[in-house]
Amino acid sequence: MERVKTGLIIDGKKISAEVRAELKNEVVYLIENKGITPGLAVVLVGENPASKVYVRNKTKACEEAGIRSFQHTLPEETTEAELVSLVEKLNNSPEVHGILVQLPLPAQIDDEKILELISPKKDVDGFHPYNMGRLMVGNPLLQPCTPFGIMRLLESTGIDPSGKEAVVIGRSNIVGKPMAMMLLRRNATVTICHSKTKDLAEKVRSADIVVAAIGRANFVKGDWIKEGAVVIDVGMNKLPDGKLTGDVDFEGASLKASHITPVPGGVGPMTIAMLLKNTVEAAKKAAGLI
Ligand code: NAP
Repeated sequence: MERVKTGLIIDGKKISAEVRAELKNEVVYLIENKGITPGLAVVLVGENPASKVYVRNKTKACEEAGIRSFQHTLPEETTEAELVSLVEKLNNSPEVHGILVQLPLPAQIDDEKILELISPKKDVDGFHPYNMGRLMVGNPLLQPCTPFGIMRLLESTGIDPSGKEAVVIGRSNIVGKPMAMMLLRRNATVTICHSKTKDLAEKVRSADIVVAAIGRANFVKGDWIKEGAVVIDVGMNKLPDGKLTGDVDFEGASLKASHITPVPGGVGPMTIAMLLKNTVEAAKKAAGLI
């Protein structure tokens, strides 16, 4: 890249480390002064290699922050009834403040049924329809980690979304839709785009804030970006050579953007940090501290 403007790169690794350091202090305070150790139960069913890595990373991040982690590893052939019984047990356990069931689940288990069974107060992924609804009505309880982390990245730029044109590309329940709601809460004027959107490039050209959550390598071109826009790249795409790349043409977009997230090292590290934050928030709420 020819030009690297000061402050261009939004450093997700650094900001995630800041969030985790804040949480670590908060956890020490909760343990020493309130006798509460925040606890996260992570449930893994089956042998999906990617899921195993995610679960390992989440457990490690918990330990580093002083959060107790309870790992439940179940065999591939686990029945829905067995998983239901475990989730119910975790819902009733006072030591468990957050429950995360790693997706995807084996075919014999209905993902939606399990996610809806998790107590909304312990739903640290923020995927339960109750938590989605709370976000929609503008009074969130626990918010989906990836868009929640993106709001923190935006905050770090010092740019107030209020009155800005924001374009979110992607309408998934885990990223696009909650992202749009969070930006709306901050008074941005939000356009949600998807695979049926006409003139996507023109829509992006009008945006002061662009969030790309598509899952297609280098899909958003540099010349779609408005001068001075903030560009958030959620995409995680593996290239044939094994390299990870985002949904945005980073080189091209960097020439126009005022701030941009790299891949890797942008949005990715924030997701786990916000999972830990949700767990600590859930523990504080359970204890009536907030
Ligand atoms: P998803 O459920 O597959 O949703 C992708 C969205 O992109 C859909 O709404 C789809 O539109 C839209 N889309 C697909 N092709 C398009 C096109 N040609 N033009 C415009 N929109 C198009 O994916 P997701 O779970 O939201 O994830 C998106 C990306 O973010 C993936 O690369 C994923 O790996 C990554 N991700 C990263 C993190 C992180 O922590 N960094 C977390 C979650 C996801 P339709 O709805 O019309 O099909």
